[in-house]
Amino acid sequence: MFSDQNSDYNNLPADNAEYPIQQEHPTPVENEARQSLSTFGNYMKYAFLILDERRCITSIYYTAESSWREKREELIGKHILAVFPEMANSEIYQHYLSMKEIDVPFEGEEYYHTWKKWIKFHGYPSEDGVCLFLQDATLIKDNWYLAKNQLEAILQGVADSILILDTAGKVIYANKAAAQLMDCESVEQLLQVSLADVISNFVIADEIGQVLPASEYPGYRALLEAKASQACVRFVNKRTGEQRWGIVQSLPVMREQGKVTQVVSIFHDITEFKDLEERKDAFIRRASHELRTPLTSLGVLTQIMRKQCMARQDKQLLLLLDRIEHQLERLAYLVDDLLDLSAFQAGTVILHMETFDFSAILHEIVDTLQHATSTHKLILECPPGISVIGDKRRIRQVGFNLLTNAIKYSRDANQVIVRVMTTPDWIQVSVQDFGIGIAEYDLPHVFERFYQMAEPIEKTFPGLGIGLYMCSEILKQHHGYIWVESKKNQGSTFSFSLPTTIFVENNYCSTAVP
Ligand code: ADP
Repeated sequence: MFSDQNSDYNNLPADNAEYPIQQEHPTPVENEARQSLSTFGNYMKYAFLILDERRCITSIYYTAESSWREKREELIGKHILAVFPEMANSEIYQHYLSMKEIDVPFEGEEYYHTWKKWIKFHGYPSEDGVCLFLQDATLIKDNWYLAKNQLEAILQGVADSILILDTAGKVIYANKAAAQLMDCESVEQLLQVSLADVISNFVIADEIGQVLPASEYPGYRALLEAKASQACVRFVNKRTGEQRWGIVQSLPVMREQGKVTQVVSIFHDITEFKDLEERKDAFIRRASHELRTPLTSLGVLTQIMRKQCMARQDKQLLLLLDRIEHQLERLAYLVDDLLDLSAFQAGTVILHMETFDFSAILHEIVDTLQHATSTHKLILECPPGISVIGDKRRIRQVGFNLLTNAIKYSRDANQVIVRVMTTPDWIQVSVQDFGIGIAEYDLPHVFERFYQMAEPIEKTFPGLGIGLYMCSEILKQHHGYIWVESKKNQGSTFSFSLPTTIFVENNYCSTAVP
């Protein structure tokens, strides 16, 4: 390729014979002139040149180090290779030669060993020759390499697995952690195989253990929807049986025109955290079962004692027994809550669906709690005769929980308002209190398991932080929603909604709204 180029150079028209570089036996003076010109490349920072058809410089503007500042005239009329002899074998020159034939602009960058410089170049055809723009890009390139190497060190050093895929699903970048996760011996091995093949060696499941369809993979969704996608997934290696839990976060990489060209997927390993959580859940399950047995025995024993005290008419002991039974009842509620929590976690809760009078249940809850509180007036605004299909006991549990919280967290207030609204499709219940409220940063977390506010005032209230979590789980199972609107020190309104048509394991039922 380059020999053609050189021969082209050697075949320059006779009127170019004056250019020093072309002379086979240059005189010492010519040699000196050539030497002097050919050092220009060492000092140039930017150069804009116009060349005529013979590739001679007709015009040149440049910035260069001081020794070249005044020498513009020396360069005019010189052949390009007399000024930049190193270019003879270069990509720029090659482009330049071909551009003359195909008449299209070109650009690129290349390294010149003699100058120890990266040169970025652009060439544009003009009517009588060509315009060349040359730029010393060494510093930019050095910084680029430094940034690239820094990034590479970070990506390879992090514990998270990082993959970059093109739109065809081919892995174009992977770090060591990703290769390990994918059961590949090296990053190179992972780069050689298709991701679909690698993934087929794993079962990928969601949090409740259901196999995740490919259309739900965050990487796939990020590509299709052109926005970030996240999922908690379980990777089970079919060969080894090893299980890894992770949060996968996929982000689309777009071109300027908004077209997704790549997807970056990051797998954050949470296996240890999940194992710990599983052990904690198992402990709560076992502990609550263990507590249930002595509680039942204590209940039976207190009943026997009650009979004996009544026979002896021992009023003092009967009073003490009342207190013991009250405390035992509280303990039993706590243990039941913990057992319930375990059942929700394990997905073993069975709903007993029936049609019931929702308005009557709400009245019952409000009446019961009104008898138990002397500090708050409970106001219920509910149309009569709303009929709902659901698990009556569980829906009652939601109502009790929200109302008990409304009373508990509004010590200085004196009323709670419960409102019920209906539409043909939904029933919406809101419980408004005028109590301590919830800070903005706590709001997204109140329905999480064990979540309790950290501030001193909140710590003075008894509780386990599982009531709202259970409400949200119960409503989820009824295809309903729960949400809260609140401001610190300005009270809270907890609301939930239930659909009037409920799907239960492929059958559907309708609730009747008056
Ligand atoms: P707990 O048994 O602690 O009350 P919950 O799950 O019912 O557990 O509530 C979680 C947390 O949400 C509570 O600890 C409390 O800080 C906050 N919270 C719940 N209801 C209210 C309310 N009506 N007003 C203010 N804060 C509330």
